Amino acid sequence: MKPYIYDLNKDSLQSWLSQQKQPAYRAGQILAWLNQGVPDPEKMSNLPQSLKMAISEAFDTRGLTLLQRQDSAEDGTSKYIFQLTDGNIVESVFMIYKTGTSVCVSSQAGCQMGCRFCASTQAGFGRNLTAGEMLAQVALIGRDKACRIDKLVVMGIGEPFENYEQLICFLNQAKAADRLGIGARHMTVSTCGLVPQMLKFAEDAPQVTLAVSLHAPNDRLRRQLMPIAKRWPIDELLGACRTYLENSNRRLTFEYALFKGVNDGEEQAEELARRIHDLRCHVNLIPANPVPGTELSPSPPERVRAFQDILTQHHIPCTVRRELGRDITAACGQLRRRLEEHEQSH
Ligand code: SAH
Repeated sequence: MKPYIYDLNKDSLQSWLSQQKQPAYRAGQILAWLNQGVPDPEKMSNLPQSLKMAISEAFDTRGLTLLQRQDSAEDGTSKYIFQLTDGNIVESVFMIYKTGTSVCVSSQAGCQMGCRFCASTQAGFGRNLTAGEMLAQVALIGRDKACRIDKLVVMGIGEPFENYEQLICFLNQAKAADRLGIGARHMTVSTCGLVPQMLKFAEDAPQVTLAVSLHAPNDRLRRQLMPIAKRWPIDELLGACRTYLENSNRRLTFEYALFKGVNDGEEQAEELARRIHDLRCHVNLIPANPVPGTELSPSPPERVRAFQDILTQHHIPCTVRRELGRDITAACGQLRRRLEEHEQSH
């Protein structure tokens, strides 16, 4: 299979160009097109025809094809469904915040983590994405929206730390001044808690915010929701968080989705506060998205508020995630699963 054009970096592009007896400055021109979300060499108007043809012959220039876009009528959120060259499907979400635009990136086609509440896992696992396939999600959406993308969050489909090497490569390319130029401080990577990679991450990407999907204050409850908790008990997970905080100068985010009658009680809020009070962190409470086929349902707003109040009383910074794009089921994996169900029923 030909390499995907978005998987080229400046060095690999320059060495290919020199084999083609082309001047090195063409690399900058080609990368500028890619950064603007234009992977089709025919549209790279400042290149000679012979080079356009050579690019088409040497590289996969399609990679990600937009299958579908859904726009929220409420808040400017758009959800993109992309098909990869091998037929796998991923989702990305564009969001507008007061502080700028953001793209939520998928790191895998599907997920193997098996979290009980998560739609990404229910549709099964396809494969890891390449760094270029992650980069293209951001570049193509920037093109479609005709705007600069200020932030990125790796919170789409997949467990990014299961695809660690490509993730780091992607973050570096997204940051590079001659690529997307997104500041590392404007990037967040979310993990369900793979301890060894969390420890490495502080070294490899010290400026990037780490978000840890906690969802429960103790092992008993966490194991019911997230199989990964059987591999890494919460004490080890929080130990890794401590090491991460010692090695990075960032604050850590804990994500906590609230499920009615499961993990949203006062008791759990108190226990959570006890467990994390000494960590430089921020808790992001997520009003859960209903996932059909499970008995888990979202906590009512008054429970979300009560949970938040308890954490605040314990001086733990805590916000409730604004729900963007609820009308288009923008939460990760939801649309992909619906598409696959649709395919299976036909
Ligand atoms: N695998 C990574 C990245 C996925 S990020 C991780 O687990 O962190 C997506 C976030 O949405 C995670 O915090 C995930 O736990 C959460 N999530 C998944 N399904 C959800 C649901 N039905 N309701 C609320 N949050 C959900």
